[in-house]
Amino acid sequence: METKPSDRKRSLLMVAVTAGGLGLLLAQWLLTSYTAVEVIPYSQFEQLVAQGAVTEVTVGQDTIQGKLKDKLPNGKTAFVTTRVDPALAKELEAKGIAVTGVSSGGALTTLLSWVLPALLLYGIWILMANRMGGREGLGGLMSIGKSRAKIYVEQDIKVTFADVAGVDEAKFELQEVVSFLKDPSSYGRLGAHVPKGILLVGPPGTGKTLLARAVAGEAGVAFFSISGSEFVEMFVGVGAARVRDLFEQARKSAPCIIFIDELDALGRSRSANALGGYDEKEQTLNQLLAELDGFDPRSGVILLAATNRPEILDPALLRAGRFDRQVLVDRPDKLGRVAILKVHVRKIKTAADVDLDKIAGLTTGFTGADLANLINEAAIAATRRNGDQVTFDDFTAAIERIVAGIEKKSRVLNNEERRRTAYHEMGHALVAASLPGVDPVQKVSIIPRGIGALGYTMQRPTEDRFLLTVSELKNRIAVLLGGRASERLIFDGDVSTGAADDLVRATEIAMEMVTKYGMDRTVGQRTYAPRPQIFMPATQDAVVSASEATGREIDLAVRQLIDEGADRAYQILERRRAELEAGVELLIAQETLTAEQFAPLRAARPAGDGKAAA
Ligand code: ADP
Ligand code: MG
Ligand code: ZN
Repeated sequence: METKPSDRKRSLLMVAVTAGGLGLLLAQWLLTSYTAVEVIPYSQFEQLVAQGAVTEVTVGQDTIQGKLKDKLPNGKTAFVTTRVDPALAKELEAKGIAVTGVSSGGALTTLLSWVLPALLLYGIWILMANRMGGREGLGGLMSIGKSRAKIYVEQDIKVTFADVAGVDEAKFELQEVVSFLKDPSSYGRLGAHVPKGILLVGPPGTGKTLLARAVAGEAGVAFFSISGSEFVEMFVGVGAARVRDLFEQARKSAPCIIFIDELDALGRSRSANALGGYDEKEQTLNQLLAELDGFDPRSGVILLAATNRPEILDPALLRAGRFDRQVLVDRPDKLGRVAILKVHVRKIKTAADVDLDKIAGLTTGFTGADLANLINEAAIAATRRNGDQVTFDDFTAAIERIVAGIEKKSRVLNNEERRRTAYHEMGHALVAASLPGVDPVQKVSIIPRGIGALGYTMQRPTEDRFLLTVSELKNRIAVLLGGRASERLIFDGDVSTGAADDLVRATEIAMEMVTKYGMDRTVGQRTYAPRPQIFMPATQDAVVSASEATGREIDLAVRQLIDEGADRAYQILERRRAELEAGVELLIAQETLTAEQFAPLRAARPAGDGKAAA
């Protein structure tokens, strides 16, 4: 839905400019061609010369201009003609053919010299206007304060709660909103409290937008939506006007839903504004707050918003009577993932061997959007091999693709590299199988994929973990260093670059143990990590406010954790060298080993490596 006034203004302007250009052209044409000068064929010119009718001529490079003694029938006394090769002209004349020259000038020249520059200038003007006006263009320049609101309204939303899975608590909370929207008057009559604004909070891709639309779909009401990021880079006043428009339009079509996506882009804390001035965003935010305050939910309009960065929202937005209810939409757990897979798997044809439960077990940490993507990728894989059903292998291939980067079939390892990679990966796998509290190995592979990692050992936790102990973290470090340890053992210390990524991840864990979780005695139980931002990945500049001396202690502690892990991995592999060799042989032959194929190796584990592994 767009408001019209500035649109009309813009098209009017365009008409004016075009008309002006055409007018100029016409004027020039009339002046040069029609007022005084007659364009005549060369043969006629020769005739006129023969008749003695020409009084004077100016011979140009390819035109001849001249004056006539008498007026031509149309009253002109000046003429212009195009020069023609004289010999040819003679011959043609002898045959009685009229000769007209075509000069390189004429209509084309006029076009090039007038129309093109005019168009160019117009283009540059538009461009500059757009630059200056952000997205508002000319409309914005000429109608500051008027809104070209990009407010989207959808009437018949087909999405329902059945399309959203794995977020049952959020659905439960929103159910109340649905029943209110279905019958606002009776809901208010019973005195039930209706929330004004509900804020959906959660990481990207978990289904916040989907949920908001499902509420509208369930209740069968109109859905007004606008995204906070659209308010960025706008003229002062435009954003505020847009907010006003949004609420005005929504009130007219109550009961309905207003949905503000990416609220953080608009509702960023005002104190976080570096310049501190009275800027556009602040004005927009103030307008939103004002609308929220003068907003009666009993009118039948429900306000929903979504954000993945609640910590940067202006506190004023979260105050009572505004977005006073927050609904968490988190990454799904295993059961949730099964439910989401069920929703999306309806769209494809699956083979009998597709076990959604197993797939869910392999996709810890995936969001709803990731899972939807996974199913799409699996279907693509099936199509590519001309299958008529999507099989379990298609799914595992898609998971690998998503998790570890795209499989690079073209990259071929030479035999020495294959052997080394096999030892490296088997090292990871054996150490993992030997330590308690480590995610079991799902797959070992030496098929190259992505950049950097030549082979990989796929370890995915079968259950989601929230708490990890010191020994579990240390075990993880040992597993990560198992690849390098194996190379060290087999190739007599001559290690390769293949462990670079392992080292990065091991260092990350050790660093967090020391600076974030207070797990090192010397450094002590205080944190040196920046305050975590909910739902956002940790920033790389991990250490803050450590003195130089403490910094050295942290480095030492991290080094020690890593060295310890490396030694443990080495010892395990030394002890189990026979299994390592057997596994490598199998791996080189098959390129990949699944959990089942790997299991006999794990069963053969001698006692004394620690308690039973999961
Ligand atoms: P968000 O707004 O939280 O970033 P979206 O709602 O845009 O996430 O989700 C993107 C897509 O991912 C959806 O259109 C849907 O296909 C899929 N999806 C995400 N979460 C779920 C879910 N809980 N159930 C089913 N599908 C989901
Ligand atoms: Mg979204
Ligand atoms: Zn490795």
